[in-house]
Amino acid sequence: MKVSNWGKYPEVEAEVFEYNNVDKYIELIHKKKQVIPRGMGRCYGDSALGKNILSTLKLNHLLDFNSEKGILTCEAGVTFEEIIRLFVPKGWFMPVTPGTKFITVGGAIASDIHGKNHHAEGTFSDHVYWMEIITPNGEIKVCSKDGNVELFNLTCGGMGLTGMITKVCFQLFPIETSYIRQESIKAKNLDEIMRIFEESGGWTNSVSWIDCLAKGKSLGRSIMMRGEFAKVSELKTSAQKSNPLKTHKDGKLFVPFDLPSFTLNSLSVKAFNFLYYNKHPSGLKNSIVHYETFYYPLDAILHWNRIYGKNGFTQYQFVLPPQTSREGLIAIIEKIGQRKMGSFLTVLKLFGVQDENFIRFPKGGYTLALDFKINPNLWKFLDELDELVFKYGGRVYLTKDVRMKHDMLMKSYPQSQDFIDKIKLLDPDFKFSSVQSDRVGLTH
Ligand SMILES: Cc1cc2nc3c(=O)[nH]c(=O)nc-3n(C[C@H](O)[C@H](O)[C@H](O)COP(=O)(O)OP(=O)(O)OC[C@H]3O[C@@H](n4cnc5c(N)ncnc54)[C@H](O)[C@@H]3O)c2cc1C
Repeated sequence: MKVSNWGKYPEVEAEVFEYNNVDKYIELIHKKKQVIPRGMGRCYGDSALGKNILSTLKLNHLLDFNSEKGILTCEAGVTFEEIIRLFVPKGWFMPVTPGTKFITVGGAIASDIHGKNHHAEGTFSDHVYWMEIITPNGEIKVCSKDGNVELFNLTCGGMGLTGMITKVCFQLFPIETSYIRQESIKAKNLDEIMRIFEESGGWTNSVSWIDCLAKGKSLGRSIMMRGEFAKVSELKTSAQKSNPLKTHKDGKLFVPFDLPSFTLNSLSVKAFNFLYYNKHPSGLKNSIVHYETFYYPLDAILHWNRIYGKNGFTQYQFVLPPQTSREGLIAIIEKIGQRKMGSFLTVLKLFGVQDENFIRFPKGGYTLALDFKINPNLWKFLDELDELVFKYGGRVYLTKDVRMKHDMLMKSYPQSQDFIDKIKLLDPDFKFSSVQSDRVGLTH
């Protein structure tokens, strides 16, 4: 069958295997020359693609819950959506979450995902006590920060190349309500938004939408959203107070088919960015919003990836160190404006300090994520952005990537050669490999 991930590009011909039984996967791993695990396919590009896909979606059982400490053990194919729906009414939330809840626990570890709280809580893997993996030779191994440490570290952010995660034990985050006390602040330009980020270090969550087409003195104009889970005493309306741990509703809106490719062009992107910025009042706005609105605004529209048309889209996310962030962001945003390659949704976050760990993405500094519709000029343009990202000491996120070259990966991730050497010892024939890992030379 044809399979693609969230960006709808590339589409590959693959056999997809889905079992609720670990022994069946072991049998298959012994039989096949190449395999790659896949969860919800919410990575944008080709990380979860290969000829033989091990779908984890039937490994979807909860195994144990310590209700005093909030420690959950589950199979790796359980989704964040399922966990949130079940555990919010009991007063627990995910410790770290991306901008969608439609991802699996296994996928969260393999991409070592970050959220709006990276500066406070680190990555998802930082909250994992232990996990069980089927290694490339078909053995089942348990690893943690205390036992089989190297396998654990290689797997966190290892993009599925160390084996298939089958079980995970991790810490949930305690909440009094499912609402967020949110402050949103309008910033006139990049200097102002960077100042606001730096002053927001005491907030657990912070993120900013940024108008990547604004120029001159307005370059980098943005709207920052920062938030904390609200206490019961902070709720405002009777609806909130009567059900303080209310869960999300199922998305009702959906995009039924791929929209024609002219729907999103540089004019519509410019108009959207202009309206979004101008509809927000000047200064600061306080509100109490549901976690769905704060963390997952796009989940309300199912299949929103279809708005980019049948050729698909990609997300380009990079991080720059603190010392070069300002200069680098200006250079990159200016280049995007000059080329009129405007991104519909552009998101800026400030990562906290993070140790290097093989090919894990986050490191201290600003991270910008841009969505681009795929067109014939895009690849050359993104190669040029890579040059700037590297010049300013940054790197690009693999789980969003679909085109990075070997050279960029090797020079921007200082432990990439070490990762390759260790993977070779674990999996000499590179049985666990993806279209991406072959393309960027991690398994080739
Ligand atoms: C709207 C949207 C917003 C997002 N926001 C963020 C964000 O804020 N922060 C962020 O970090 N990411 C973000 N992402 C990316 C997403 O969180 C990651 O790509 C995540 O890994 C997807 O999980 P998945 O279950 O869909 O994994 P897949 O996309 O299926 O796979 C991703 C990688 O994990 C590997 N993998 C999956 N399951 C297993 C397993 N059981 N064992 C071993 N390897 C496995 C795959 O081989 C692949 O390399 C976003 C994605 C979308 C679509």
